[in-house]
Amino acid sequence: MFVLLFGPPGSGKGTQASALAERLGVPHVATGDIFRKHLREGTALGQLARSYMDRGQLVPDLVTCDLVASRLGENDAAGGVLFDGFPRSVPQLYWVLGHLGATGRSLAHVVNLQVDDRLILGRITGRRTCTNCGATYHVDSAPPDADGNCTRCGKPVVQRKDDTEEVVRDRLVAYAAQTFPCLEQLVGRVPVHNVDGVGSIEEVRVRIFSALGLQA
Ligand code: ADP
Ligand code: ADP
Ligand code: ZN
Repeated sequence: MFVLLFGPPGSGKGTQASALAERLGVPHVATGDIFRKHLREGTALGQLARSYMDRGQLVPDLVTCDLVASRLGENDAAGGVLFDGFPRSVPQLYWVLGHLGATGRSLAHVVNLQVDDRLILGRITGRRTCTNCGATYHVDSAPPDADGNCTRCGKPVVQRKDDTEEVVRDRLVAYAAQTFPCLEQLVGRVPVHNVDGVGSIEEVRVRIFSALGLQA
């Protein structure tokens, strides 16, 4: 099953994705995580992506869709994936609908996580991310261990370079201008479930599962 986790930066997509992907039995495909992996490994794609990510702009559609095409070509993705942070523009949306449609597949559900803009800034500037496994934390609501290390893998947890207030403002502009319009295009094509993303991480998880008819 192909499911899309949609929502503004900081709405909790990454936080909710692991449990949902596990429950659906599909891999979690987060384009931001894949770009950051390329960055760490110093690939040419990583260098290119960095110039956009650092400014809070979208990596060009062609580059992003190529990356997703190769991820979808891997064996574990044949039966479905949970998309997180992709598609992020109307051209990406039409590309993925066409790409899946060409082989008789389709998006089954969209979960739209709704979080007020006023909460977003605090969520993102307080976010901390594991340098090794990518797990996310928050200085107030979900802190790492007492030494500032990842509770999952023990490696250091840091602030992402693009999680500063200045870059977040640009990311929110990109979201409003390029990403949000995808929702309008999705309505009527794919069931869109609006889920309130404000509440504890566990409360939001239960809402998502229930919207998809999954036993919590
Ligand atoms: P996204 O992937 O949508 O950008 P994240 O899942 O990384 O968002 O969440 C952004 C920040 O908000 C992280 O620091 C995360 O720990 C925190 N967060 C996620 N869900 C909640 C929640 N329900 N309540 C409070 N903080 C949350
Ligand atoms: P967030 O967790 O705040 O939603 P992501 O980790 O998903 O952020 O993305 C970080 C950055 O990576 C984006 O600001 C953008 O520069 C780039 N990026 C991620 N996914 C895409 C995409 N689908 N299209 C274009 N750029 C992307
Ligand atoms: Zn970790």
